[in-house]
Amino acid sequence: MSILDSLAPTTIPPGDEALRAQVRDFLARALPDVPAHVRARSWNGANAAFSRELAKAGWLGMTLPAEYGGGGRSAFARYVLVEELLSAGAPVALHWVADRQSGPQILKYGTEAQKRFYLPRICRGEAFFCIGMSEPNAGSDLAGVRTRAAPNEAGFLLNGQKIWTTNAHHCQYMIALVRTSGEAADRHKGLSQVIVDLSLPGITIRPITDLSGDTHFCEVFFDNVQLATDALVGHEGQGWEQVTAELAFERSGPERLFSSIVLFDEWLAWVRTPQGRTESAVRLAGGVFTELAPLRAMSVAVQEKLTRGESPVIEAALVKELGTTLEQFIPAAIADDLHGRDTAGVPAELLQTLNYVTEVAPSFSLRGGTRDILRGMIARGLGLR
Ligand SMILES: Cc1cc2nc3c(=O)[nH]c(=O)nc-3n(C[C@H](O)[C@H](O)[C@H](O)COP(=O)(O)OP(=O)(O)OC[C@H]3O[C@@H](n4cnc5c(N)ncnc54)[C@H](O)[C@@H]3O)c2cc1C
Repeated sequence: MSILDSLAPTTIPPGDEALRAQVRDFLARALPDVPAHVRARSWNGANAAFSRELAKAGWLGMTLPAEYGGGGRSAFARYVLVEELLSAGAPVALHWVADRQSGPQILKYGTEAQKRFYLPRICRGEAFFCIGMSEPNAGSDLAGVRTRAAPNEAGFLLNGQKIWTTNAHHCQYMIALVRTSGEAADRHKGLSQVIVDLSLPGITIRPITDLSGDTHFCEVFFDNVQLATDALVGHEGQGWEQVTAELAFERSGPERLFSSIVLFDEWLAWVRTPQGRTESAVRLAGGVFTELAPLRAMSVAVQEKLTRGESPVIEAALVKELGTTLEQFIPAAIADDLHGRDTAGVPAELLQTLNYVTEVAPSFSLRGGTRDILRGMIARGLGLR
């Protein structure tokens, strides 16, 4: 099958699409009057009360089976939910990773005891997870991780360091990619995934401040941290295969298209007014929609593969690469549009939102795998590498 077949347009089933109106109603009540520059932070916005309200509505762990506290819904239903959350700029950071990838990962690879322990708490908004993949010398080159969980009588002794770990300072757990045997030179061999309880002795979490002044990602140090045997997720030595499958969940969703959507909306609202409307702004608005619509169709098509239990690694890379290119284009194009206009007439909230998104936009094509790495994967999918 060619990659083009796998990205054939897919429609969201009407039963799942029906969720949209309920989510909009909920958000209108839950988030009245939040300024755009705050909403623009959406999946960096940490708000435990909001995450638990979503849980009460049955919207955390929607795709997990009901027997583990989940909603038993399809990936399409979650897609609709996530689109609405992101376009409203809802603060989803705390439950984000658990809901998107740690929960499904535990469901797929975890033991029955792990599923019963973690999944209901994820669905109640009581267990937040972070992703412990990157290290100071292993980002793009992830197979070079050196953090070691050495098997011992009690389970594993964990030593090493992770970096850029989003929200580690707010989470209870990390799923970490670690070396359980061999050396860094062994590459994919000897890697495993472990669940780390971040309250254990020997763990230091140090937030890093980004250019915008926010502290959403962290350095995490492990100094002789004793993990129990049941910290292992899946099979020892299978960490690379597991992480590769996990990244398909991470790379294909609406979050790879919508990082600048609150800014775009705010600008569009102004372009709809007589003061904001110019010919070139109208052309730009149409241009952005022309790119967004097929990208969204591709992203929905990837959901269909996830729904079928497949692991659309290359397709997800394609969506992320194109999506983040558009996400970065939006603030640059809006800045161009405003350049040369009388800024006294531009709403202050629009300028503040533009300022924030411009500062963080370079990270869009770094987080979750850089542009160069994704292009390499796409080339491999085309049989060129
Ligand atoms: C906002 C943000 C949040 C993040 N959150 C997390 C998180 O929660 N958990 C986590 O584990 N990580 C997280 N990361 C880390 C992210 O995954 C890494 O930054 C990314 O994979 C790149 O790794 P690096 O920073 O080590 O850069 P490097 O790998 O050193 O890359 C530097 C540059 O060299 C290029 N390059 C590297 N290798 C090649 C190659 N083989 N061919 C061509 N070009 C190459 C890269 O594309 C890049 O431009 C986050 C990053 C950001 C920006």
